[in-house]
Amino acid sequence: MAKRQFKTESRKMLDMMINSVYTNKEIFLRELISNASDAIDKRYFRSLTNPSLGLGREEYGITIDVDKDSRTITITDNGCGMTDKELNDNLGTIAKSGSGEFKSDNKDDNISIIGQFGVGFYSAFMVSRRITVTTRALESDTAYLWESEGVDGYTVTETEKAQPGTVIVMYLKDDSENENYSEFLDGYRIQELVRKYSDYIRYPIRMDMETTRPVENADDSDDKAPKYETVMETRTLNSMVPLWHRKAADVTEEEYSNFYKSHFYDSEAPVRTIHSRMEGSVEYEMLLFIPKNAPYNYHSKDYEKGLQLYCNGVMIMEKCSDLLPDYFNFVRGVVDSSDLTLNISRETLQQNYQVRTIAKSIEKKIKNELMKLQKEDREKYEEFFKAFGTQLKFGVYNDFGIHKDVLKDLLVFRCTSGERYITLKEYTEAMPEAQSEIYYAFADTAELAAALPRTQAVTSKGYDVLLLSDDIDEFALSAIESYSDKKFRNVTSGELDLSSQEEKDSVKKANEENSSMLTLMQETLGDKVKAVRFSSSLGDNPVSLSSEGYISAEMARILSRMPGNEAFAHADTALEININHKLKDSLVKLYDEDKEKLGLYTKILYAQARQISGLEIENPVELSNMICQLMV
Ligand code: ADP
Repeated sequence: MAKRQFKTESRKMLDMMINSVYTNKEIFLRELISNASDAIDKRYFRSLTNPSLGLGREEYGITIDVDKDSRTITITDNGCGMTDKELNDNLGTIAKSGSGEFKSDNKDDNISIIGQFGVGFYSAFMVSRRITVTTRALESDTAYLWESEGVDGYTVTETEKAQPGTVIVMYLKDDSENENYSEFLDGYRIQELVRKYSDYIRYPIRMDMETTRPVENADDSDDKAPKYETVMETRTLNSMVPLWHRKAADVTEEEYSNFYKSHFYDSEAPVRTIHSRMEGSVEYEMLLFIPKNAPYNYHSKDYEKGLQLYCNGVMIMEKCSDLLPDYFNFVRGVVDSSDLTLNISRETLQQNYQVRTIAKSIEKKIKNELMKLQKEDREKYEEFFKAFGTQLKFGVYNDFGIHKDVLKDLLVFRCTSGERYITLKEYTEAMPEAQSEIYYAFADTAELAAALPRTQAVTSKGYDVLLLSDDIDEFALSAIESYSDKKFRNVTSGELDLSSQEEKDSVKKANEENSSMLTLMQETLGDKVKAVRFSSSLGDNPVSLSSEGYISAEMARILSRMPGNEAFAHADTALEININHKLKDSLVKLYDEDKEKLGLYTKILYAQARQISGLEIENPVELSNMICQLMV
């Protein structure tokens, strides 16, 4: 019998499958089951116009048989089958829809395509050394046997088959040092794969499985222990109706929660569930979950965002990242659309109109749900924000702030006016009339930020201060720029001036009268500070550092830790001395009597100011020596 040759593209594809180093070989089962399900669909549709071709609704089904001795997996369907010509056209050539993707010679690309998209019948060659397909088409009395051991080609011969449909037998490859194909001979493994990939196929997928059960009417007159026997039981492996296909009103909270936990491997129920059916230019269902806690690898680069993408109940992609913006990367869930096709490729996915439309509406839905949670259950929202707030703040800052309008109302902050977190809206609505800016303070913790001298000076005026302690906080606020036309102001900013006119005048006077002393002090510190000056905004504290310009001292500290940003990591600061503190008189006196000691004081005061501002002391040994010098 002459071998028929595969078409060129198919040979390439086959070669890739046979030699695949791809680890996710298990998807072959999903592919064959999807084909079987499609074939049953076709038969069903044809029977609508010609009832003699069809079966009763409940007779349709797919059967899997596993035989350990012959190392075979057999998949049987009672679908439309194939004629001789169809066998050639369909299994001698790769499906038109998929063919374009495999022209690329880049092996890595191809490997990721195997994992992500429908690659069809040939994927069975990843695990099989030989495949036979016995098939009989509807309205045909002849059946055909297709056989192939890979790239060499295939044969088609006539054979017998009682009923229309297709039987595919895969002869598994032998195990090797690196590959264990025998795992697919384990019924439980097959069951697991069906549940993972094909749970929502609309026809039953049945398999005979060994189970043990107590022996009925066993002769147990002496022996009290129950007897067990091993029996074969035909099990339906798939649940057939996806949770998301059901009406939201019919699904209980517990069902959602169980589905979420088992599907996404979380031990905790989600904080919020979004389930809706969208109709319009693209029709789809979404079932999304906002988790309670971040998964263990959330903060590592291993974490991959994405939603599971289904097409008519068949999973086509485990993590479709194009459906989620980075700032909502914590959302888990499922999107199912019949408007997509199984063979959609990664490139077309990104430009795909349907996917973009779905992604847009998903973003809106998530935002609305979070706003609702913020309103309805603040405590839960705070918990959510502790887990994922940093991600939202990065979202505000990244991409030059273009997402800030979507996200700014989702942010909440600690503040000086209470223990709770507040939104920017709440802050601005509660602002006294005289207050013109939104104040914030930054330190390693909210408590330290509250204790900053400048924070206390602002709160003593009756103004609330946002307490920031997350590295990204100040960058996020700088991206938002203003809220309700109120600009943000770091309390340590040199431009912050809450003093009365009278105080301002006296500061100005003191600065002028002592300008030569202040200049000398500044020179002592060199380029560490831009200026040394008196201030009336320090509350009870003797000294403080203030920032000038866009980059605060805290931002500079954070930037300096990020490689590549060192050039920007410079804040212009000024050393401020409390005009109302007795320290002022000592300094003035020293300027007249002991300039050397004044230099020592200046350096110590600078170190103190850094410490009060939450910055580290540059040289603790030198500082300690200087203090001792004053003591002896
Ligand atoms: P795709 O399913 O993406 O079209 P495949 O390579 O998996 O690509 O299958 C090629 C074609 O072979 C299918 O489109 C279908 O026409 C036919 N085919 C595969 N499996 C079966 C089956 N079990 N019954 C009938 N036809 C099938």
